[in-house]
Amino acid sequence: MFSLTPSNIIEFLYCPRYTYYEHVLTVPQNEDKYYKVERGRKLHDEKLERNKGYLRKRIGAIDKWEDQYLASEEMRGRVDEILKLEDGTYAPLDYKFAEYKEKLYQTYQQQLFCYALLIEGNWQVEVNRGYLVYIRSRNKLLEVPITAKDKTLIKKSISAFREIVEKNHFPKATKYKRRCLNCTYRNICIK
Ligand code: SF4
Repeated sequence: MFSLTPSNIIEFLYCPRYTYYEHVLTVPQNEDKYYKVERGRKLHDEKLERNKGYLRKRIGAIDKWEDQYLASEEMRGRVDEILKLEDGTYAPLDYKFAEYKEKLYQTYQQQLFCYALLIEGNWQVEVNRGYLVYIRSRNKLLEVPITAKDKTLIKKSISAFREIVEKNHFPKATKYKRRCLNCTYRNICIK
Protein backbone atom coordinates (compact mmCIF):
# COMPACT_ATOMS: atom_id res chain seq x y z
CA MET A 1 0.00 0.00 0.00
CA PHE A 2 1.17 3.55 -0.78
CA SER A 3 2.25 5.92 2.00
CA LEU A 4 -0.35 8.54 2.86
CA THR A 5 -0.12 12.31 2.51
CA PRO A 6 -1.49 14.70 5.15
CA SER A 7 -4.31 15.48 2.66
CA ASN A 8 -5.33 11.80 2.65
CA ILE A 9 -5.52 11.84 6.43
CA ILE A 10 -7.35 15.17 6.61
CA GLU A 11 -9.95 13.88 4.15
CA PHE A 12 -10.36 10.70 6.19
CA LEU A 13 -10.93 12.77 9.33
CA TYR A 14 -13.47 14.88 7.42
CA CYS A 15 -15.39 11.73 6.51
CA PRO A 16 -14.08 8.14 6.35
CA ARG A 17 -16.46 7.46 3.52
CA TYR A 18 -14.62 10.04 1.44
CA THR A 19 -11.59 7.75 1.66
CA TYR A 20 -13.70 4.84 0.43
CA TYR A 21 -14.98 6.69 -2.64
CA GLU A 22 -11.60 8.10 -3.55
CA HIS A 23 -9.32 5.13 -2.86
CA VAL A 24 -11.52 2.03 -3.12
CA LEU A 25 -13.95 3.06 -5.85
CA THR A 26 -11.29 5.46 -7.28
CA VAL A 27 -13.77 8.20 -8.07
CA PRO A 28 -11.51 11.24 -8.55
CA GLN A 29 -11.80 14.53 -6.68
CA ASN A 30 -10.12 17.74 -7.72
CA GLU A 31 -8.82 19.40 -4.61
CA ASP A 32 -5.14 18.67 -5.15
CA LYS A 33 -5.21 21.24 -7.95
CA TYR A 34 -6.03 23.98 -5.47
CA TYR A 35 -3.25 22.83 -3.18
CA LYS A 36 -0.69 23.21 -5.97
CA VAL A 37 -1.89 26.72 -6.79
CA GLU A 38 -1.61 27.68 -3.14
CA ARG A 39 1.95 26.35 -2.94
CA GLY A 40 2.93 28.39 -6.02
CA ARG A 41 1.54 31.55 -4.48
CA LYS A 42 3.30 31.00 -1.20
CA LEU A 43 6.65 30.46 -2.80
CA HIS A 44 6.54 33.70 -4.77
CA ASP A 45 5.56 36.20 -2.12
CA GLU A 46 8.49 38.60 -1.84
CA LYS A 47 7.21 40.49 1.17
CA LEU A 48 6.90 37.20 2.98
CA GLU A 49 10.48 36.32 2.08
CA ARG A 50 11.64 39.50 3.77
CA ASN A 51 9.56 38.73 6.87
CA LYS A 52 10.64 35.16 7.42
CA GLY A 53 13.70 36.02 9.51
CA TYR A 54 11.64 38.28 11.75
CA LEU A 55 8.99 35.58 12.25
CA ARG A 56 11.58 32.95 13.18
CA LYS A 57 13.10 35.36 15.68
CA ARG A 58 9.72 35.97 17.29
CA ILE A 59 9.26 32.21 17.65
CA GLY A 60 12.72 31.89 19.19
CA ALA A 61 14.03 29.48 16.57
CA ILE A 62 17.76 28.73 16.74
CA ASP A 63 17.95 26.80 13.47
CA LYS A 64 15.78 26.19 10.41
CA TRP A 65 15.38 23.82 7.47
CA GLU A 66 13.22 25.02 4.58
CA ASP A 67 11.04 23.01 2.21
CA GLN A 68 11.74 19.59 3.71
CA TYR A 69 10.39 16.42 2.13
CA LEU A 70 9.97 13.69 4.75
CA ALA A 71 8.75 10.15 4.31
CA SER A 72 8.15 6.99 6.28
CA GLU A 73 6.52 3.71 5.30
CA GLU A 74 3.15 5.09 6.34
CA MET A 75 3.24 8.78 5.52
CA ARG A 76 5.00 11.34 3.34
CA GLY A 77 4.84 15.10 3.10
CA ARG A 78 6.61 18.35 2.40
CA VAL A 79 6.98 20.79 5.30
CA ASP A 80 7.47 24.50 4.52
CA GLU A 81 9.90 24.86 7.43
CA ILE A 82 11.20 22.86 10.34
CA LEU A 83 12.49 24.94 13.24
CA LYS A 84 14.73 24.00 16.13
CA LEU A 85 13.56 25.84 19.26
CA GLU A 86 15.51 27.10 22.26
CA ASP A 87 14.20 24.30 24.51
CA GLY A 88 15.65 21.63 22.18
CA THR A 89 12.32 20.61 20.66
CA TYR A 90 11.46 21.02 16.97
CA ALA A 91 8.41 22.55 15.29
CA PRO A 92 6.84 22.55 11.83
CA LEU A 93 5.93 25.93 10.38
CA ASP A 94 3.38 26.21 7.59
CA TYR A 95 2.69 29.32 5.53
CA LYS A 96 -0.97 29.73 4.54
CA PHE A 97 -1.99 31.90 1.64
CA ALA A 98 -5.07 32.81 3.65
CA GLU A 99 -6.58 35.36 6.02
CA TYR A 100 -6.89 34.61 9.71
CA LYS A 101 -10.61 34.58 10.51
CA GLU A 102 -10.32 34.48 14.31
CA LYS A 103 -10.66 30.72 14.15
CA LEU A 104 -8.16 27.92 13.75
CA TYR A 105 -9.42 25.42 11.18
CA GLN A 106 -9.23 21.76 12.16
CA THR A 107 -7.66 20.93 8.82
CA TYR A 108 -4.73 23.26 9.49
CA GLN A 109 -4.26 21.71 12.92
CA GLN A 110 -4.41 18.19 11.56
CA GLN A 111 -1.82 19.03 8.93
CA LEU A 112 0.57 20.17 11.67
CA PHE A 113 -0.14 16.99 13.66
CA CYS A 114 0.89 14.96 10.60
CA TYR A 115 4.06 17.00 10.20
CA ALA A 116 4.87 16.47 13.88
CA LEU A 117 4.75 12.70 13.41
CA LEU A 118 6.85 12.90 10.26
CA ILE A 119 9.52 15.04 11.94
CA GLU A 120 9.63 12.87 15.07
CA GLY A 121 9.81 9.68 13.04
CA ASN A 122 12.50 10.86 10.64
CA TRP A 123 14.69 12.95 12.91
CA GLN A 124 14.21 11.22 16.30
CA VAL A 125 13.37 14.51 18.04
CA GLU A 126 10.45 15.83 20.08
CA VAL A 127 7.70 18.02 18.60
CA ASN A 128 5.09 19.54 20.90
CA ARG A 129 3.96 22.58 18.94
CA GLY A 130 3.73 23.95 15.44
CA TYR A 131 3.26 27.35 13.82
CA LEU A 132 1.03 28.85 11.15
CA VAL A 133 1.64 32.09 9.27
CA TYR A 134 -1.39 33.69 7.58
CA ILE A 135 0.11 35.53 4.64
CA ARG A 136 -3.03 37.53 3.84
CA SER A 137 -3.35 38.81 7.41
CA ARG A 138 0.00 40.61 7.38
CA ASN A 139 1.82 37.38 8.23
CA LYS A 140 -0.09 36.76 11.44
CA LEU A 141 1.71 34.11 13.46
CA LEU A 142 -0.20 31.48 15.44
CA GLU A 143 1.25 28.86 17.79
CA VAL A 144 -0.57 25.51 17.80
CA PRO A 145 0.03 23.02 20.66
CA ILE A 146 0.54 19.40 19.55
CA THR A 147 -0.16 16.81 22.25
CA ALA A 148 0.38 13.05 22.48
CA LYS A 149 -3.38 12.69 21.96
CA ASP A 150 -3.17 14.61 18.69
CA LYS A 151 -0.41 12.34 17.41
CA THR A 152 -2.40 9.26 18.44
CA LEU A 153 -5.36 10.58 16.45
CA ILE A 154 -3.21 10.63 13.31
CA LYS A 155 -1.75 7.16 13.96
CA LYS A 156 -5.24 5.71 14.48
CA SER A 157 -6.47 7.45 11.33
CA ILE A 158 -3.67 5.89 9.29
CA SER A 159 -4.65 2.42 10.56
CA ALA A 160 -8.34 3.01 9.87
CA PHE A 161 -7.53 4.38 6.40
CA ARG A 162 -5.56 1.23 5.59
CA GLU A 163 -8.39 -0.95 6.85
CA ILE A 164 -10.81 0.74 4.42
CA VAL A 165 -8.49 0.47 1.43
CA GLU A 166 -6.94 -2.95 2.04
CA LYS A 167 -10.14 -4.69 3.13
CA ASN A 168 -12.64 -2.76 1.01
CA HIS A 169 -14.35 -1.81 4.21
CA PHE A 170 -17.34 0.54 3.68
CA PRO A 171 -17.18 2.96 6.63
CA LYS A 172 -19.88 4.87 8.45
CA ALA A 173 -20.78 8.33 7.20
CA THR A 174 -19.60 11.37 9.11
CA LYS A 175 -21.91 12.31 11.95
CA TYR A 176 -21.67 15.97 10.91
CA LYS A 177 -24.38 16.07 8.24
CA ARG A 178 -23.59 19.60 7.12
CA ARG A 179 -20.30 18.32 5.73
CA CYS A 180 -22.29 16.46 3.08
CA LEU A 181 -23.59 19.73 1.60
CA ASN A 182 -20.31 20.63 -0.09
CA CYS A 183 -18.94 17.14 -0.54
CA THR A 184 -17.67 16.06 -3.95
CA TYR A 185 -19.33 12.67 -3.45
CA ARG A 186 -22.76 13.83 -2.25
CA ASN A 187 -24.49 12.61 -5.44
CA ILE A 188 -23.25 9.05 -5.16
CA CYS A 189 -23.24 8.69 -1.38
CA ILE A 190 -25.88 6.51 0.27
CA LYS A 191 -26.86 7.99 3.61
S1 SF4 B 1 -21.69 12.91 1.21
FE1 SF4 B 1 -21.38 13.06 3.43
S2 SF4 B 1 -21.25 10.94 4.16
FE2 SF4 B 1 -20.96 10.91 1.93
S3 SF4 B 1 -18.75 11.01 1.62
FE3 SF4 B 1 -19.49 13.11 1.55
S4 SF4 B 1 -19.31 13.87 3.65
FE4 SF4 B 1 -19.17 11.64 3.74
